[in-house]
Amino acid sequence: SSFRYRPEILEGVPEHLTRHLKQFEDWFILEAAELKKITEHFVNELGKGLTIEGGNIPMNVTWVTSNPPGRESGRYLTLDMGGTNLRVCDVTLSEQKRDFEQTQRKFKLPKEVKSGTAEQLWDFVADRLQVFLEENPSGSQDNISVPLAFTFSFPVDQQNIRSGVLQRWTKKFNVSGVEGEDVVPQLEAALARKNIPVDVVALINDTTGTLIASNYRDPQVKVGSIFSTGTNAAYMEECRLVPKLKEYGLPEDAKVIINTEYGAFDNDRQILPFTPFDHQIDSESLRPGTQLYEKMVSGLYIGEMLRLVMVKLHEEGVLFQGKDITSLRQSNAVDATFLSIAEMDFSEDLSDMREEFEDEFSFSPTVDEMKVCRYLIGLIATRAARLYACGIAAICIKNKTKKCHVGVDGSVFNKYSGFKDRASQGLRDILDWPVGEIDLIALNASEDGSGVGAALAASLALNKVEQIKT
Ligand code: BGC
Ligand code: MG
Repeated sequence: SSFRYRPEILEGVPEHLTRHLKQFEDWFILEAAELKKITEHFVNELGKGLTIEGGNIPMNVTWVTSNPPGRESGRYLTLDMGGTNLRVCDVTLSEQKRDFEQTQRKFKLPKEVKSGTAEQLWDFVADRLQVFLEENPSGSQDNISVPLAFTFSFPVDQQNIRSGVLQRWTKKFNVSGVEGEDVVPQLEAALARKNIPVDVVALINDTTGTLIASNYRDPQVKVGSIFSTGTNAAYMEECRLVPKLKEYGLPEDAKVIINTEYGAFDNDRQILPFTPFDHQIDSESLRPGTQLYEKMVSGLYIGEMLRLVMVKLHEEGVLFQGKDITSLRQSNAVDATFLSIAEMDFSEDLSDMREEFEDEFSFSPTVDEMKVCRYLIGLIATRAARLYACGIAAICIKNKTKKCHVGVDGSVFNKYSGFKDRASQGLRDILDWPVGEIDLIALNASEDGSGVGAALAASLALNKVEQIKT
């Protein structure tokens, strides 16, 4: 047979289009036993990251030291520098338990800003914050600064909650003059240049915000995770189990959120089943050799993976013969949304998928060719979801958590139908626990993490300051 399983979608598709598929199944299908082996290694690596010597996974200490009790109040500004947008929110946490109000605005982050200089980046951020504040005047006296929480979704080394040295850029960011520097004074300098009356009180990761926001609504949430352009997770750890925190002499019962930054898992290439396509994606990326797990899992790369696979099958004389696939040869031409649209197309003639091909790549494949693509998309997206499950399972195993909710946010998780079911199946395969013990839960309203989650982190940071003062 030309393939391992009998996929329904390939019924009736002629042999000359399917005869190469077995190789792709061998590359992309991960059986339960493989997932278990990867997870086992993952558990060890999470532990290593907590030691003084460290490992591949940074396991960054966030200095967010308790879950919100749900009694915070006050007004906060939050800034979220995500992969595509800069989001500004004005959040008012109400006295009433677990309630809040927010106004927000998104600004597209121009490509030039993502790869320019530090000053350009922070001036852009300060400028957009100013625009937002002019549009949403607070009504309070102008000389009182508003506390601001900054969601910065990159790995930082923190000595306290209001500072953070960028370890390295990830995703598509490549701004000069920031790596190895504390990002907070850089942002503050730009805010000062424009006389913006805000006080940066907390610097948090998007996973930390997601964990706080989802735990605020659902106390069963023990892990916060992002599945989007990038991939990462955070959880609450007992400080006494963190060797690298020994020197701080923290109370015996202290807890702290760890931002795992597990996108860096297997940077030393011990266990993940790299295909030739993974090697190519890594070597053509901005930082080869970094974020290797993230590059196999997240939304930024699954589109590129499909593109490389389709181009290869074209060159082997299988797909799109006699068609001009020039636009498909452009790197990063395929977006994750292409995969999700294709998988959602249940029509006989795959008309939505065809429309995407025509609009995005200016050629029209045959229905049989599209069926092959659909099958490949299934393989690629399923591999991503199952590998994603390894990280979540590893955190749960490490923490001996047999039952919990995992708060997940991120555009790909929210919009890619089927991802959650595939990841959940992966979790069941790995954990051998009854269905539904570890539940992946989408954040109620996506983006809460960098709104209410960040505001709560700011309020925790301020409470702490007050506690020290008294
Ligand atoms: C970053 C993380 C972030 C994740 C999701 C990764 O590339 O290193 O800090 O949480 O993307 O946005
Ligand atoms: Mg984001």
